[in-house]
Amino acid sequence: MKRFEMTIWGARGSIPAPAEPNVCFGSDTSCVELRCGDRVVVLDAGTGIVGCGRRLYEERIHDIDILLTHCHFDHIIGLPFVIPLYKDHVSARIFAGHLEGDATCQEMVEGFMCPPYFPVKPKQFAARIDYRDFRPPDVLDLGGGIAARTVRLNHPNGAVGYRIDFDGRSLCYITDTEHEPGKRDEAILDLIAGADVMIYDTTYTDEDFARYIGYGHSTWQEGVRLCRAGEVPRLILFHHDIMQTDERLTALEATARAEFAGAMVARTGLTLTVGEGGAPI
Ligand SMILES: [Zn+2]
Ligand SMILES: [Zn+2]
Repeated sequence: MKRFEMTIWGARGSIPAPAEPNVCFGSDTSCVELRCGDRVVVLDAGTGIVGCGRRLYEERIHDIDILLTHCHFDHIIGLPFVIPLYKDHVSARIFAGHLEGDATCQEMVEGFMCPPYFPVKPKQFAARIDYRDFRPPDVLDLGGGIAARTVRLNHPNGAVGYRIDFDGRSLCYITDTEHEPGKRDEAILDLIAGADVMIYDTTYTDEDFARYIGYGHSTWQEGVRLCRAGEVPRLILFHHDIMQTDERLTALEATARAEFAGAMVARTGLTLTVGEGGAPI
């Protein structure tokens, strides 16, 4: 069996949450690193990608695929601080599929890495950067036996969910998205069917969801329902609200596990082998 691992580098949503009550689950925003054999795929470029980039630099990784769900700040703000992007021996591909023709991925990156918002422009990246645009449900062939299936998510300004298939196993990354109560999103269900792991936007709970209609996020209970319907044994609760302290997230994990044995709450530093563990299906 080939190496297929995921590591969480940032699990927060909306904004980093650096505070003493959050040290266990971490404060950084969305970033997940995948190791597929000797290849590296990074999902989102929130503040978590800063630590991820440092690690990749130390390991002398020189080829990186970065798949963006969308370009809200919490998913891109770390991109200007990825050390390997400033090294001329590195090749990187940056994918975006949520822009729907309004802009290209390159224009989007140039749009936020520019004065007066930021002093360094992307042309100062020394790495060879290949910006790739797509439209869901395109399937992205990342080479090396890695394929990324894509799905359009229900989120203000758009977002894209991914399913990474490698070595006969699959991990799905579904954030940020809002579900319709009482109705499964058929496109998401089709994407996740039979996968081993789903990382899911669990910003809210069913109990408080009515107050947040239109915010573009979902609940851990909807994640459980999707995992059951799609026969996915492992659910990773992700995109934690700033108010979710270690104490609350620990309690949430116990509650979610009582409902679905394969539930885990994402925390910075969590590493899992895709295909191991989870709930009996
Ligand atoms: Zn977000
Ligand atoms: Zn968002």
